[in-house]
Amino acid sequence: ARDLASARNSDELLAAHAKVTGGVLRTRFPPEPNGFLHIGHAKSMNLNFKLAFALAGCDKAGDTLFRYDDTNPEAESQEYIDSQADNVHWMGWRPCATTYSSDYFDELFALAVRLVKEGKAYVCHQTAEEMAACRDLRKAGKEGYESPWRNRPVAESLREFARMRAGEYAEGTAVLRLKMDWSSPNPNLWDIIAYRIKFHPHPRTGDAWCIYPSYDFTHCIVDSLEHIDLSLCTLEFEPRRDSYYWLLEALGMWRPRVWEFSRLNIACNVLSKRKILKLVMGGTLRGWDDPRLLTINGIRRRGFSPESLNAFCDDVGVTRSANTIRPELLDHHARSFHDVHAPRAFAVIDPIRVEITNMADTDSFEVEAACHPKDASRGSRKLVLSRTLFIETSDFRETDDSGYFGLAPGKTVGLRFAGLLTCTGVTRNASGEIACIQATYKHERDSRPKGNVHWVSAAPGAEPARAEIRLYSRLFTADFPGELTGNFLDDLNPKSEEVMSDAVIEASLVGVREFSTFQFERLGYFTADKDSTADRMVFNRTVTLRESSSA
Ligand code: ATP
Ligand code: MG
Ligand code: MG
Repeated sequence: ARDLASARNSDELLAAHAKVTGGVLRTRFPPEPNGFLHIGHAKSMNLNFKLAFALAGCDKAGDTLFRYDDTNPEAESQEYIDSQADNVHWMGWRPCATTYSSDYFDELFALAVRLVKEGKAYVCHQTAEEMAACRDLRKAGKEGYESPWRNRPVAESLREFARMRAGEYAEGTAVLRLKMDWSSPNPNLWDIIAYRIKFHPHPRTGDAWCIYPSYDFTHCIVDSLEHIDLSLCTLEFEPRRDSYYWLLEALGMWRPRVWEFSRLNIACNVLSKRKILKLVMGGTLRGWDDPRLLTINGIRRRGFSPESLNAFCDDVGVTRSANTIRPELLDHHARSFHDVHAPRAFAVIDPIRVEITNMADTDSFEVEAACHPKDASRGSRKLVLSRTLFIETSDFRETDDSGYFGLAPGKTVGLRFAGLLTCTGVTRNASGEIACIQATYKHERDSRPKGNVHWVSAAPGAEPARAEIRLYSRLFTADFPGELTGNFLDDLNPKSEEVMSDAVIEASLVGVREFSTFQFERLGYFTADKDSTADRMVFNRTVTLRESSSA
C-alpha cells in the first residue's frame, strides 16, 4: 500500500519527473524557521541526507534539498533562518539546493485559483468556532456539518478569494477551504483550510502578501514542484497523508512517496520550544545554546562533534515505534569520538597546593608529555615541574587506607610523566584547614607507586593559569520531566551545572579556540567555551571518562 501512491503516477508524470531529477533519488529537509534546530532535527537530517537512500535501496546518497517551510510569518525570523543554515552546514550536510516555500507563493496562489475555478475550493466565512462546531456535528454523526458557503457559485468564490488577496477582509473573516470529502472518517479530509489572512510582514516577501497558504496546502505542493521522491515526516503527520494525496491528485501533480517515522525523544531532557523558552526566560540556563540543552547549538557548545552526533543518529536508526533514548547513548558516542580525536592535557579542577621542600625556588624539570597515548604521530608537549604544583584535592587524604591510591602523609605517588612525590606533612591556615601539602620530589622513578596523579605546575616562581570549569550532568532528574506532577520544572536537577572557578590548567591550554576538545587526564572530555577570555579560559565538561562517574 505504501508504494501505491507513486505507482499511480501516470507515465507522463513519471517521465517528466525522471527528466527533472535525472533519475537521482530526491529527499528534502524542511524545517520551519520558527526556532533553533534540536537533536530531533539532527535525526531528520541524518535520515534525509543519508539513511533514506539506503532504505530505498540505493548504494549511494541521492539529492537532498534544504527547504525552509516558511508559511507562518508571525513565528519566523531571519535569525532562525541563519541559525538553521549554520546548523545544517555544521552537521556536515551539503544540500543540492536551498529553497523556501515562500519561493512558490505565486505558484501556490495560481494553483489555488485553479482549484476554485474547478469547483474544488471555496471561500468560507465561518468563524473558527463555527467550523469546530461543524466538525463536532460530523463526529457525532449528525447532519448540518457542511459550511453554508460550501456550495456558493465558483464565480463568487473567485471574486472573494481575489478580495482576500487584495486585503479587503480582516483576519479571521474569510479563508479558502478545499472541497474535500466529509464522508471520510479522516477529519483531515473535512474541507481543510488552504489559505488564511494574516496582516503580518514575512521575513522574505515583506508586505507582498496578506494571505498565506497553510502547511497542508503548501507542503505537498512544494514537495511535488520540487520533484521529491521520498517525503519523510514524523508519525503525527500520518493522518495528514490522505489530504496530501487528495490535493496532488486534485491538481494532477507528481506524487512523492510519503514515509513516516517516529519522533526522537531523549530521557531527562526536553525538546519543546515552549519548555526551553521557559527555562531560558526563567534564568535557569545560559541561553538557547546552553550546554545542557539538546539544541544543535547546545550540543555543539557542550563539545560534541558532528561526527559523534551523526553516529548517535545512525545508532538510533529509523523506526515507527515511539522511542525515548537514554542520554547515556549520547555520552557513549561523545566518548568514542573524543577518545580517538581529543588531545590529552592536564587540568586540576579542584586544586590543592603542594610545596616541594627539596627543590629551590629556581629549580625546575621539563618533561615530555604525549598528546595521545595511542597515537605517537600526535606528538608531545613540554610540561614544567617546579617547586610549587597543584594536585586534585580528592587525590590527597590525611588518613591513608589500603584501598586508596592517592597521596597521604608518609606515602609516595607517581606524578604522571614525571617522577615521584612523597608527602611529608601539611601546613594549615588560621582556621585549621590544609593550606598546602609539604612533599619531597625524586625525578628518578626508582620504585613503582600504586597510584599516579595528574598535576599542574608553572615556570619557577610563577603561578599556573587559572580557569573556570563547568561540570554538567542531566538537566532533569526524571526520565520524563513533569510526568508525575504535570509541571516539568518540578524535575529540574538543581545540580545540573557545577562551576569550578579555581581550576588550574597547563600552559598549552591557554588561548585554545572555542569548541576545541581535550581529554583532561583522569577527569573526562572538556571543551573550550565561548565565555573564555584572554586571561581566563572556560571549559565545559562534555562527558566523563566512564559512564559510572557521570551524574
Ligand atoms: P519542533 O516543534 O520540535 O520544532 P517541528 O515538527 O515543528 O518540531 P520542523 O521545523 O517542522 O519541526 O521540522 C523539520 C523536520 O524535522 C520535519 O520533517 C520534522 O518531522 C523533523 N523533526 C522535528 N522534530 C523531530 C524529532 N523530535 N524527531 C525526529 N524528527 C523531527
Ligand atoms: Mg520546528
Ligand atoms: Mg513543523
